[in-house]
Amino acid sequence: MSGGKRDYYEVLGVARSADATEIKKAYRAQAIKYHPDKNPDDPGAAERFREAAEAYEVLKDPEKRARYDRFGHAADAGPGGGFGGGGINVDLNDALESFLRNFGMGGGFGEMFGGGGGGGRGRGRNLQMELAVTLEEAARGVRKTVKVTKQVSCTDCGGSGAAAGSRPSTCQHCRGHGRVRQVRQSLLGQMVTEGACPHCQGRGQVVQDPCRSCRGTGTVRGEESLEINVPAGVSTGNYMELQGKGDAGEHGGDSGNLRVVFNVRESELFERHGDDLLIDVPVSPVDLILGTKIEVPTLDGKVALKIPAGTQSHKIFRLRKKGMPHVNRPGTGDQLVRVLAWTPENLDRDVVKRLEALQADLARRVPPPGRRGGD
Ligand SMILES: [Zn+2]
Ligand SMILES: [Zn+2]
Repeated sequence: MSGGKRDYYEVLGVARSADATEIKKAYRAQAIKYHPDKNPDDPGAAERFREAAEAYEVLKDPEKRARYDRFGHAADAGPGGGFGGGGINVDLNDALESFLRNFGMGGGFGEMFGGGGGGGRGRGRNLQMELAVTLEEAARGVRKTVKVTKQVSCTDCGGSGAAAGSRPSTCQHCRGHGRVRQVRQSLLGQMVTEGACPHCQGRGQVVQDPCRSCRGTGTVRGEESLEINVPAGVSTGNYMELQGKGDAGEHGGDSGNLRVVFNVRESELFERHGDDLLIDVPVSPVDLILGTKIEVPTLDGKVALKIPAGTQSHKIFRLRKKGMPHVNRPGTGDQLVRVLAWTPENLDRDVVKRLEALQADLARRVPPPGRRGGD
């Protein structure tokens, strides 16, 4: 198997010290030069093309390359030293696929390949973005305008990738079917496989005269302004899927989707627990003892709340339907108000004196340490 193989570095025409970028560049140059499409009458070209893909397959991979540097072609045949047992043996079909994989998509090779398209491969990428909203915005719902940077359809060619005045032509390789059958000789005998046509990437059409603006891909980098209606009640991590708002598909293919993930910022006032909102309200110990009326901020403004006499610190009062609206069903959460005894400091001498008069009496009423099981 290692018999007549040429040295991989020689195949790509690079020095043994070449780095990954040089190797990729060299491979690209060789692959373009010897691509079967460009050399229909030279059967030797296909072999050179295949050889370049094989060399690249090994040299692009640091592990395979190290093994090759040590053992040469024996590395893919020798016992124990082989390339993962299967050896490196790239056939023309693999070579074509490898080329497309490495350079076919958006790499500016529209003049050679139709790129993606309606055949599935040309569908634009799905995108995801985060949208930050305040708790108040999330509570009421809000309309936001966002700018999304993405691939948009090229206006110069209407997304086809073909230069003005020209049109994509039927792929000769698959006669426009987009799929080709391949017959391979394998150890198990003849194998017939069917797959996307590597020449047109399953589109059935190729661009001969590529549009300059998009280099034949049909899409260019651009920006789109989108109005996003944030539904009331969203939480961080909730998302909306906007169909067709992702990257435009190459060659007029379908656009991908845009997922907008909401990030609800933490509020200074409220701690969110699902659709309930908790707020801590400091109250003087005397108010807890004697009872009082306090004002509590809610999402809808201030609300009066009666604190009964003898309220323990940390007691939670519930304001019905003053929380966040449920996002997927009718109804609204509650607001929870936790009153906390707030100990005043730096009191005037006469206030201290009056409290001292109460100290012993109040201390007698305090329960012993331990769990009191709530209030
Ligand atoms: Zn264009
Ligand atoms: Zn084709």
